[in-house]
Amino acid sequence: MRAAVVGGGVVGAAVALALARRGVDTVLLEAEPELALAASGTNSGILHTGFDSTPGELETELILRSAELRPAVLEALGVPVLRCGAAMRGAPREVLETASANAVQHEVLADGTLIVPGEWVTDPVAFTLALAAAAERAWAQVETGFRVAAVEGGPTLRDEQGRAVRAEVVVNCAGQHADKVAGLFGDRSFSIYPRKGEFIVFDAPVHRILLPAPTRRTKGVLVFPTLDGHSVVGPTALDGEDKHDWSVSAEAREELLPKAIAMHPPLADAAVIGSYAGLRPAGRSGANYVIGRSAAAPALVNVAAIRSTGLSASLGIAEHVAELVVPGAAAVPLVAGGAPPPSGPWWRRTATYRAP
Ligand SMILES: Cc1cc2nc3c(=O)[nH]c(=O)nc-3n(C[C@H](O)[C@H](O)[C@H](O)COP(=O)(O)OP(=O)(O)OC[C@H]3O[C@@H](n4cnc5c(N)ncnc54)[C@H](O)[C@@H]3O)c2cc1C
Repeated sequence: MRAAVVGGGVVGAAVALALARRGVDTVLLEAEPELALAASGTNSGILHTGFDSTPGELETELILRSAELRPAVLEALGVPVLRCGAAMRGAPREVLETASANAVQHEVLADGTLIVPGEWVTDPVAFTLALAAAAERAWAQVETGFRVAAVEGGPTLRDEQGRAVRAEVVVNCAGQHADKVAGLFGDRSFSIYPRKGEFIVFDAPVHRILLPAPTRRTKGVLVFPTLDGHSVVGPTALDGEDKHDWSVSAEAREELLPKAIAMHPPLADAAVIGSYAGLRPAGRSGANYVIGRSAAAPALVNVAAIRSTGLSASLGIAEHVAELVVPGAAAVPLVAGGAPPPSGPWWRRTATYRAP
């Protein structure tokens, strides 16, 4: 079977690897000149355990499954990771109940601070590139600079230059543009909008992920370490319409700086050395984790609206999708190996590429 995976973010790379490991002749098509230049390169880089995810939802199930699969994959692919854990001061009772319901290891200190040792930080670009490189070692093909712009019967996917790729199954992992790709197949069942998250990077370390107590609407602003010894505060959460606006506003700085200092006072004296913004691929009308065969086009599998946790859930999502495409097929073992390291710090990469 020949499958085309559209979108070279972390979800597409993980899906391409899972399909290739099940013997599917797979091509990963990415519009940009390199992989992970959208949400997958501009997030918080946190590998969530699912301690605060609503029990019973597909998103939670796939985060929890990923957490089981992750250690072996990180090890085999040499993905850098900081096993730093997370701390949440004044964690509400519901969060503790959720962590217990999801069977995520945690402890509560005498002052009420919740500690979740399994919350780790990675380099999300290196993670994505490692998955794609492993997919190539399993004989998948990776094509960058291929923006799927039209679909003909078959289906045959065409890019803007008229180049063609034919496949029996198309897996739509196009992030912010997944609705457009589905629309090429006549599937208008969901719509994606950008929920922007802005970050500021400090030239000072922090040793743990520092989490605020969550609100009903957002996980809030956090402070987290990077693998290269810096700390980052963010993200904001701004619902927008412009899928090409990667700017960081002055208002974001005003919002983030005091929050950062309140959570980690040494940041008051630290230099700001960068900023970046990411666009969460959010589904309208509350749609989240839209994963499944399209009712409009049998050859199409949508993997869309992976809004806030796709880095953490990617391995679980990929296994779930592979099971939809080739049910029951056994996965061959991962071929260990690395990927060429991304040039420069990941948190600067997309901001530089997207700079106006
Ligand atoms: C501010 C922010 C903070 C976050 N923090 C975390 C976190 O700490 N932990 C976590 O687990 N998750 C986090 N996330 C969520 C995570 O980043 C996303 O869920 C994940 O990156 C989604 O991956 P994706 O591959 O679906 O989308 P993307 O990374 O957006 O990739 C989609 C790709 O499809 C390509 N594409 C689009 N249209 C076409 C086309 N027509 N043809 C070919 N290619 C196309 C794009 O160029 C892009 O590369 C965060 C997200 C944001 C924005």
